[in-house]
Amino acid sequence: MSFCFSCLLVNGKMNPLGPTPSVHRSVSSRLLRLSVFLLLSLLDSKGKAMWTAHLNITFQVGNRIISELGESGVFGNHSPLERVSGAVVLPEGWNQNACNPLTNFSRPDQTDTWLALIERGGCTFTHKINVAAEKGANGVIIYNYPGTGNKVFPMSHQGTENIVAVMIGNLKGMELLHLIQQGVYVTIIIEVGRMHVPWLSQYVTSLFTFLASTVIYLFLQCAWIPRVPNLTRRQRQIKANVKKAIGQLQLRVLKEGDKELDPNEDSCVVCLDVYKAQDVIRILTCKHFFHKTCVDPWLLAHATCPMCKCDILKP
Ligand SMILES: [Zn+2]
Ligand SMILES: [Zn+2]
Repeated sequence: MSFCFSCLLVNGKMNPLGPTPSVHRSVSSRLLRLSVFLLLSLLDSKGKAMWTAHLNITFQVGNRIISELGESGVFGNHSPLERVSGAVVLPEGWNQNACNPLTNFSRPDQTDTWLALIERGGCTFTHKINVAAEKGANGVIIYNYPGTGNKVFPMSHQGTENIVAVMIGNLKGMELLHLIQQGVYVTIIIEVGRMHVPWLSQYVTSLFTFLASTVIYLFLQCAWIPRVPNLTRRQRQIKANVKKAIGQLQLRVLKEGDKELDPNEDSCVVCLDVYKAQDVIRILTCKHFFHKTCVDPWLLAHATCPMCKCDILKP
């Protein structure tokens, strides 16, 4: 991998304490784990297709026949995918949920085939679909709870596989309910619409998330490594050894009369300042010396003398 080459270089040379191939190994292993997770979540998803339902609604107001076509419903998970049509009929009684097994449907005389329009809630989808099927409905339209607007989802209604069942939004359901309650004769043709594969969009979303997180992760690796090194155990060990070696190097406090204070002598090569009395100096094994505050951070990062490159870890 060459994505992070610049962060491996410090002062134009390879940093012995910087990221090593182990950092790249950890990137690869994280990516691998993420891929496995993604794959498992894909296998876990049901992959069940969802079918939309086109509702061709026709009703008469005065002399005018009004017809509207829209993709306004979804087929239930256990519904046959078939075209079905008929007059829309409401359950009789004080509520519209058709949970009572004795529910009657006020079916107009001229209708051969009819579709029950039932409100969601009060009992299971299976229960209310069966109540309508037993009264001879050719299909069941269930509208969602009040306050859910146009939201629909594929219902689960095991045990009612012989009758078409679709869900429509609450708003559309209320519209039909009010028309019929006013005595309008409404007919609907339910047709099979398009197939939606939820896991496909889930897959695309997961893939996008995966790619985005990979890019962000790699970016952060490059941006942060120089400041927050992701040290391995070996690197931590080296660092500890360097600290120990620094601690063993001689320290001296300069005082008046020391030859180091002579202006003709060398100054500290790190800060380029001349030495003064009371300055604390660190004397390396090569006999080069510097201000303690100047040389300690350098030694911690490089473990060598800034002048002769002598290794402080070597005795
Ligand atoms: Zn200095
Ligand atoms: Zn030296």
